Amino acid sequence: MSKTAIFPGSFDPFTIGHLDIIQRALPLFDTIIVAIGNNREKSCMFSLEERLDNIRRVIKSNPHVEVMTYSGLTTDLCREKGARFILRGVRNLDDYEYERNIADINRTIAPDIETVLLFADPSLSVISSSMVRELNAFGKDITPYLPQTADK
Ligand code: ADP
Repeated sequence: MSKTAIFPGSFDPFTIGHLDIIQRALPLFDTIIVAIGNNREKSCMFSLEERLDNIRRVIKSNPHVEVMTYSGLTTDLCREKGARFILRGVRNLDDYEYERNIADINRTIAPDIETVLLFADPSLSVISSSMVRELNAFGKDITPYLPQTADK
C-alpha cells in the first residue's frame, strides 16, 4: 500500500522552512501532496493561484510531490486522496500546542489518519510566513527566506 501524506498549510508565502520539511519527509512517503488551504478568514499576501504556481515552480517536476489547493477539512481531503498521513512542522512550543490541538481533533474525527510532525531545522526555526509578510510590508528583502524557483 503506497504511503501518501498531505502537507496542509497556508504557505503565504512558501518559505525555505516549508521546503525543508518536504525534503526531509520525502524518504518517509511515496507521495507528498502540498495542499494550500483556502482560508477566507486570513488576509493573504499572495492569491491561491499565485501560491499554487510558485510552489509548483519550486518543486519543479518531482514525481513524488503534488501541489493543489483545497477548502474544507484536511481529513476529508486525506480520504479523497487516499492519504493516511498528515505532515506538519514544529518550530517551538507555540507550534507544539497548536499542532497538538489540531492533531487531537483530527484523530477524533479520523482515527486512522496519523499526524506526522517533524521538528524544524534549528537554522530555519525562526522563519515563518507571517515574519516574511511583515518584512515585506516594511519593504525589506525577503528573498533569503524564499526557495529558488526553476526560472531563477
Ligand atoms: P498554517 O497557516 O496552517 O499554520 P503554514 O503555512 O504557516 O500553515 O505552515 C504549514 C506547516 O509548516 C505548519 O505545520 C508549520 O508549523 C510548518 N512550518 C512553517 N514554517 C516552518 C519552518 N520554518 N520550519 C519548519 N516547519 C515550518
